[in-house]
Amino acid sequence: MADRPLHPETLALHAGWRADPSTGAVVPPIYQTTSYQFRDTDHAANLFALRELGNIYTRLGNPTTDVLEQRIAALEGGAAALAVASGQAASAYAVQNLARAGDNIVSGTDLYGGTWNLFANTLKDMGIEVRFVDPADPEAFVRASDDRTRAWYVETLPNPKLIVAPIGEIAALGRPLGIPLIVDNTAAPLIARPFDHGAAIVVYSTTKYIGGHGTSIGGMIVDGGTFDWEAFPDRQPLLNTPDPSYHGAVWSQAAKPLGPIAYILRARTVLLRDLGAALSPTNAFQILQGLETLPLRMPRHCENAAKVVAFLQSRPEVTRVIHPSVQTGIQAERAARVLTGGQGGLVGFELAGGSGAGRAFINALQLFYHVANIGDARSLAIHPASTTHSQLSAEEQAVTGVSEGYVRLSIGLEHIDDIIADLGQALDRATG
Ligand code: PLP
Repeated sequence: MADRPLHPETLALHAGWRADPSTGAVVPPIYQTTSYQFRDTDHAANLFALRELGNIYTRLGNPTTDVLEQRIAALEGGAAALAVASGQAASAYAVQNLARAGDNIVSGTDLYGGTWNLFANTLKDMGIEVRFVDPADPEAFVRASDDRTRAWYVETLPNPKLIVAPIGEIAALGRPLGIPLIVDNTAAPLIARPFDHGAAIVVYSTTKYIGGHGTSIGGMIVDGGTFDWEAFPDRQPLLNTPDPSYHGAVWSQAAKPLGPIAYILRARTVLLRDLGAALSPTNAFQILQGLETLPLRMPRHCENAAKVVAFLQSRPEVTRVIHPSVQTGIQAERAARVLTGGQGGLVGFELAGGSGAGRAFINALQLFYHVANIGDARSLAIHPASTTHSQLSAEEQAVTGVSEGYVRLSIGLEHIDDIIADLGQALDRATG
């Protein structure tokens, strides 16, 4: 469109779409169809053989979803993206696209509870071992790796700890070994750019800030297009050996005419084809609607959260506030390096009264919703120990940073005075 790079505000409205070729519709229509009429048998055969790219069946791709994929890839600075039905599916596929039974990955411990369960139990049952290390220690990823290690995994801004992962340091250690870093950037879209720091793959729960309005579950995997899979044939066999499920295609070679997209091409043609967690076109539309205003919303989430931090710090019953802005030393340095566009909309705090006070506080809220979600336009709160992290053992809860009195807030876009008034009255009633 332009001969210079466009800004995020512009890409969020324009990338991947101009107008509907048949009707001129400006907004990407919801192509609510399962299938697509082939022109003739040659056309059909070419599509199936990947000699030509195009629509076959909505489990594999859809024009509405395609706009969302292109737009997020453009905003993220990636080569291509794959939309899936949820953030969980994105995390699972991102790993399964490189690792099979007998292989392992190394992951930081600081993870969303659902990802922890996926890694510690479900992938393990499938024969993929996940080795957990402290993400603050980049060398720990090297120590935990062996010749069956296929990827490393971290969250940019993991809640509840909200300690930013040293993406650059970890990615730089992995690249010479042929080990790509997968980064879950769900809590920090636009404000952190993992590809700029050497991440190979970015995953999102688009359910959160990207959708932004709490209407639709979705996930996204973005391929940075910079990882040299071909240079590491032993380390990355799934992308470098013939795939019997696709006439012996070697994905690092098959992708070449299409661009540096071997990873995401395999994820679509093999995992989405066979495991089938496709995003519905209607959800793709809803998430696109949210994405259009993400560059406006993220700064306001960050601004309101900073004011909530200051308010909580002024309250005597709050024993600890958790937010990148209150960290010091190396944690603060890493946050400053990675969170270049703001410090996020999530705030944690601990109450002196422990679990009882935490639960009483949640019950006393009037404006905040008590829900298991983050990144909504509305302000949200939850007590993780009794909800999102309740399926973890006490030991696992401690490792992921969940204490009995911890309360997680996802600060929304309401007027800051109303947000603070609700927090104030709930603290008064819970601890008064
Ligand atoms: N990753 C992070 C950081 C999350 O917070 C979540 C959901 O809370 C997920 C992944 C999973 O996403 P979804 O709920 O869309 O499956």
